[in-house]
Amino acid sequence: MPSSKYVFVTGGVASSLGKGIISASLAKLLQARGFSVTIQKLDPYINIDPGTLNPYEHGECFVTDDGAETDLDLGHYERYLNITTSQANNVTTGRIYQSVIDKERRGDYLGETVQVIPHITDEIKRRIKLLGNTGAYDFVITEIGGTVGDIESLPYIEAVRQMRWEIGTDCLVIHLTLVPYLAAAGELKTKPTQHSVKTLLEQGVQPDIIVCRTEKHLNEGMRNKIALFCNVDPTAVIESIDARSIYEVPMLMREEKLDVEVLEKMRVKSPHAPDLAKWEKFLHRLNNPKGQVTIGLIGKYVELKDAYKSINEAFVHAGAVNECKVLVKSVHSESINPETVNEALAGLDGILVAPGFGSRGIEGKIEAIRFARVNKIPFLGICLGMQCAVIEFGRNVLKLEHANSTEMDPETPHPVIDIMEAQKKISNKGGTMRLGAYPCTIQPDTRAREVYETSEIRERHRHRYEFNNHYLDQYRNAGMVTSGINRQDDLVEIIELPGHPWFVGIQFHPEYKSTVANPHPLFVHFVKAASLFNQRKTE
Ligand code: GLN
Repeated sequence: MPSSKYVFVTGGVASSLGKGIISASLAKLLQARGFSVTIQKLDPYINIDPGTLNPYEHGECFVTDDGAETDLDLGHYERYLNITTSQANNVTTGRIYQSVIDKERRGDYLGETVQVIPHITDEIKRRIKLLGNTGAYDFVITEIGGTVGDIESLPYIEAVRQMRWEIGTDCLVIHLTLVPYLAAAGELKTKPTQHSVKTLLEQGVQPDIIVCRTEKHLNEGMRNKIALFCNVDPTAVIESIDARSIYEVPMLMREEKLDVEVLEKMRVKSPHAPDLAKWEKFLHRLNNPKGQVTIGLIGKYVELKDAYKSINEAFVHAGAVNECKVLVKSVHSESINPETVNEALAGLDGILVAPGFGSRGIEGKIEAIRFARVNKIPFLGICLGMQCAVIEFGRNVLKLEHANSTEMDPETPHPVIDIMEAQKKISNKGGTMRLGAYPCTIQPDTRAREVYETSEIRERHRHRYEFNNHYLDQYRNAGMVTSGINRQDDLVEIIELPGHPWFVGIQFHPEYKSTVANPHPLFVHFVKAASLFNQRKTE
């Protein structure tokens, strides 16, 4: 195909309808037909990136190889497509305005009045076309965050209108809406969909395809009614019924022929039908587990569904490999102390201590790690979880009284975790951590080597603090193995305890790299260890 085709996905009626999953599912179907596809998310908020947003606001912050702190939907894109995304795949209003204002200050506009149209919309279009212009993709799918009718999404819809005008059938708009079921009336209602399409029309955009999120099947009459009122073909009304797992959605979209409709409307010939054999195999394993394990996820945002999104998804992938259902039991770290720990963590087959920032809940995390270490329960500590494992070992094995991270206690007599040299002078918060992929060398004859089966890896980071090498000999002499090292900066990246069935802490975030096609080996081995632990318990 000579140039990229652009597919836009907008949303109406309500937020959280799953635009990200629909975009990723369409991308998966096109990829399975042999096309190269990437997905981009445009977020209408003014933050430069979600890195400075707290998880209560926006769920998990996903990190790419190139160190971009992005929307969690990029995680879905990577998990579905097994591709890596980058800074170019997530753009916010803050970033758009920053570029335009920087240009204005440089004098690039030569005295013009700088306005939303054309300057902001030009910058939005430039960012959309950046991916297409690489020449690497047949399709660029752009998901527009928010809901049509929001004041802040207006410039994005206007950019879509202009692109539509400029490139015609090389551009297509999919509108995702909600068709609610009113139990009292016993009916599905299409009126909200009609209204939301009207809002889009007022802004000059006619959707080509309407995807209807619904909890009950749409009958032919309803499809025809939506088609008639919204000026689309009846075949372009696609049902998106609630699925038992997000990974079923590509199959549902295949049944509804979403990909066929897109290709016909864009006049593209497909090399072959979607080949989803591997995906189907994954679903079969996921839906037919032979066993079950319960993993405790110890964190301070456990009441938030999306705060540990990538970790939960990595467990889904790893569970399928092990043909084992992974029940993730969230435990609030603030609820754990020496008195409650036995009860709070009873019955778990594995304990994962989550990443995090700040001192809230930290003592509970340390107590949970002591419990896992002493009772020989499989343990995985991610980022702050690894740092807590170092603190726990320092306090309870090395007897370093009040050992801590200087993030939690700047006055600690034993700063076993300390701020990185390079971080000391930084005062800006956004985008200033150690971010993105860094290499790590794995020592032979270690658990990490058994897991990775290679000596050189690259994993993604997002932190300011690290293991304090001043204490390295003490830890090593007492039996902690530092099995992964960043040789360039001499940083400890992986720790483990050999006398324990499975005790691993990592300074990086393996969850960001787990995909359906490539489940992350650390999660796969951790679930396997939990499964063995579970079997021994019942023997
Ligand atoms: N707060 C810790 C640090 O900045 C850990 C960060 C994390 O868990 N992502 O180093």
